[in-house]
Amino acid sequence: MVKFKSAGRQLPLFPADVERSFELLPTLGEQGDIRYFATRSRSVLNGPETTGMNFWSVNPYVGCAFGCTYCYARYAHRYVMERAADKDRLEDALSSEFESMPPWLAFERRIFVKRDAPDILARALRTGGERYLGLINGDTILIGSATDPYQPAERRFRVTRRILEVLAEHPGLSIVIITKSPLITRDVDLLKRIARHSRIHVQISLITVDRELARRIEPRSPTPDSRLRAIARLRDAGIETGVNCMPVLPGITDDPAALDELVRRVAEAGAVRIGACALRLDRSARLRYLPFIEQEFPDLAARYHASYSRGRNVGEKYRAGLAEHFDTLRAKYGIGDGSRY
Ligand code: SF4
Repeated sequence: MVKFKSAGRQLPLFPADVERSFELLPTLGEQGDIRYFATRSRSVLNGPETTGMNFWSVNPYVGCAFGCTYCYARYAHRYVMERAADKDRLEDALSSEFESMPPWLAFERRIFVKRDAPDILARALRTGGERYLGLINGDTILIGSATDPYQPAERRFRVTRRILEVLAEHPGLSIVIITKSPLITRDVDLLKRIARHSRIHVQISLITVDRELARRIEPRSPTPDSRLRAIARLRDAGIETGVNCMPVLPGITDDPAALDELVRRVAEAGAVRIGACALRLDRSARLRYLPFIEQEFPDLAARYHASYSRGRNVGEKYRAGLAEHFDTLRAKYGIGDGSRY
């Protein structure tokens, strides 16, 4: 096990818009090829001014062992890795830990666990103050904007559950949880308790119901069938649940018949809404995704390079056609629009 001399020392690893006052602590353990590190952060609730969106975000972990090939959240680890290359700023043990693999892989295999996030959140909500007035006035708290809060780490560290226990103490909140994992059904008791006095909504991420295809593009994520079963269990428990079909991968998951089947099955499982958008490729996602396409879908490589040559978005015409197709499918299967929470 790697020992760090850096315990107790403040290391500003993330830019302000990602994470403030991040501190690295010793390893918590290993699980196969995944290694967990403890972290402490001064602030857990990232307000609209830092998310750049109209919601607050809470991320119990940094990194995500599900390792979806298209994941856009890798940028945070890229920053960690770049800083790790600066040996004057980090201890040798930690530097070599991160130098042993590319940033995109470290995102999946080196997971930071915010063990004290629930206590920090409890203190922030107890103290209240002007900064948190928006929460009381109905701003949404999104759990899982840059990590999956129910990835394998949660089974062991239960940070997400403890965060929900804190939120359960505060009535009148609006909470959205995004996950790919049926592990969320472990917390149905807590979700029901929160639903008594706050709005709580779960979005299950699902971009294909084809098990083999899912295994190629989301190799470590729960199977589509297990996610459909989770939707049904949440529905049975009275928890409002929707689906994020995000991102739709051009040429891979956008076959009209396949999308029809997906929308039909999530509607049958009990999802009340579905949102969809086409793949966006920021720099960190591009570094992982485009080599993956070249290797796994070589016939599509030229199309991807051309489609994303001018920016992070695929062409306007494609996006408009996709939006129209989903409108048709929602109407066909009587399911609402989940593009906004
Ligand atoms: S589950 Fe979400 S956060 Fe995790 S790797 Fe996949 S897309 Fe990224």
